[in-house]
Amino acid sequence: MGNFELDSRKPFIISGPCSAETEEQTLETCRRLAATGLVDVLRAGVWKPRTNPGSFEGVGLKGLAWMSAAKAETGLPIAVEVATSKHVESALEFGVDVLWIGARTTVSPFAIQDIADALRGNKDIVVLIKNPMNPDLALWAGAIARLENVGVDIKNIGLIHRGFSYFGHSKYRNAPMWHLVLEMRSRFPEMAMICDPSHICGTRQYLQEVSQAAADMRYDGLIIESHICPDKALSDAAQQVTPDGLEELVKGIRWRADSTDDPEFAKALSVFRSEIDQIDSEVFDLLSRRMKVAEQIGRVKRDNNVAILQGGRWTSIVEKVVAQAQKLDLSEDFLKTVLEAIHIESINRQNKVMNS
Ligand code: PEP
Ligand code: MN
Repeated sequence: MGNFELDSRKPFIISGPCSAETEEQTLETCRRLAATGLVDVLRAGVWKPRTNPGSFEGVGLKGLAWMSAAKAETGLPIAVEVATSKHVESALEFGVDVLWIGARTTVSPFAIQDIADALRGNKDIVVLIKNPMNPDLALWAGAIARLENVGVDIKNIGLIHRGFSYFGHSKYRNAPMWHLVLEMRSRFPEMAMICDPSHICGTRQYLQEVSQAAADMRYDGLIIESHICPDKALSDAAQQVTPDGLEELVKGIRWRADSTDDPEFAKALSVFRSEIDQIDSEVFDLLSRRMKVAEQIGRVKRDNNVAILQGGRWTSIVEKVVAQAQKLDLSEDFLKTVLEAIHIESINRQNKVMNS
């Protein structure tokens, strides 16, 4: 049995610097985090996958020695990121208890297989797999399968949600796409899901709200970057918090119970759930009627030899609906997403009619 079990102390907190930079910074951060009594595992990156060459790429083996000293001093298990079989071997030599696979590594089946080969038959080590950079659940699931295939105990595999790289505007560094992660959790219900608010947010200012969102969704733990002097950090300076900041953040999170036996709660929930079921059925009835009308339009267009796509008309529908966003108390983004789905289905239905 390893030094840390994924299901032994839910919800658990992993914290430490983005990167081990110096012996002093690593040990002092770990010491102060341990002193809060709120941290279950200490983390630090010693090999850093950076977008630009020339950025700080980690201190390597020296960092493992510092983390190992932090473990000896605090008695807490330690976690580092691995991206190659060589990293795994070194980490195991230094008594690392938890390995995590970074988002840039999860996208590469060759790299995952290389890591898996170094873990063959290892029953004790806990391995946390971050979601791939791109929103592709199959890659994430493939990484799990590669580890299982070499005999890593499924109980020792956990997942980290660190958000997805996103083309377009998001207030976060990496868009959370919570729905994708919910889908992953329903595919792997026994696997611990840990949220990484630091890499989702990219800046300290949103850490509390994202951590609370994860707690509200009953995540099993959080991994949050902390540095004795965040502004001077050699990587991810804007998103790290001091150990005091970490303490305040964690104390401010309200973890919700999974459920309760209170009959009043059960009654209220059941009333609201039937209301939702009723509304859903009305919404889909209306959508079905809308699609039938779209088919009628398709027939009229076919009989008059007119093309399906009439851009101006669609733009005016979108404008009309979006203009009501405030009155409906629905966000513009949401309305646009729903309209787009309706538009795609409408075009498909008209297409069918035109070609019948
Ligand atoms: C990290 O945890 O420091 C890291 C590099 O994370 P990610 O793989 O999520 O970018
Ligand atoms: Mn980082």
